[in-house]
Amino acid sequence: MTQLSGPTLHRCPACNGYFTRSILTFLHFYDDVPSWSDGKNEQWWAGIGSPVGRCPTCSKILWIDDADALMPAPEKPAALSALAQLWHLLTGDRSGKLKGEREWSSLPREIKEAARFIRLSTVQDYIDALAHIASMLPDQEEYLRRKLWWASNDHHRRRSDGPELEVKAARANMERLLALLPSDAWTLERVELYRQLGRFQEALSLIPSIPPDQWRKAYLQQQWAEAGDSSVRVIPPRSATHTQTSQQRARAW
Ligand SMILES: [Zn+2]
Repeated sequence: MTQLSGPTLHRCPACNGYFTRSILTFLHFYDDVPSWSDGKNEQWWAGIGSPVGRCPTCSKILWIDDADALMPAPEKPAALSALAQLWHLLTGDRSGKLKGEREWSSLPREIKEAARFIRLSTVQDYIDALAHIASMLPDQEEYLRRKLWWASNDHHRRRSDGPELEVKAARANMERLLALLPSDAWTLERVELYRQLGRFQEALSLIPSIPPDQWRKAYLQQQWAEAGDSSVRVIPPRSATHTQTSQQRARAW
């Protein structure tokens, strides 16, 4: 079963507002949920624990590493009746219920009402985030360009009206992502990028370098590239459900 950590409390470096955030501690992949050839999955938990998002107070986009992590987010204690309060008072508050109430009451309203860190999801979200590229690490740019690529493919997944990102800009983003990926890793992703760019020979030339644990997807990629198919495709589900720890799927974010 997919599990989340308890929320932690953070402070926005732009507005000093508070927000909370949870991360995924264990992932469960449901087989009736599509996963796509570009790597996007549509599990309900996808995007939880993202390292970048919007502050719920000022709407600025920020990396979680730039926000102070203060403490576990305080939880409002269950309300005590007058009788229960008297009981805990007379018995020395051995369970700490009265102390918990006092501590909660003393917190600033901004902490008690802190909202969740907002996930980025749209093409415009990622374009806004990439506007600050000058102050970004290569890993951060790679992360945002991958998400922009997925978002720019979403109209194919939804079969809705047209692309949210103009074709020329979408291709430029894919080219830049290819340039950011190391030449000795992320082979399956590079095959998919070449294929979606219509560079089928380059895609096919990488197929033999795909690691054995990805041969199922490599076989599909080979078939699509040989057929001259550059569209994002659904990966057919496996026959059994499987689970992975978040460490094994750190890139799932
Ligand atoms: Zn803020």
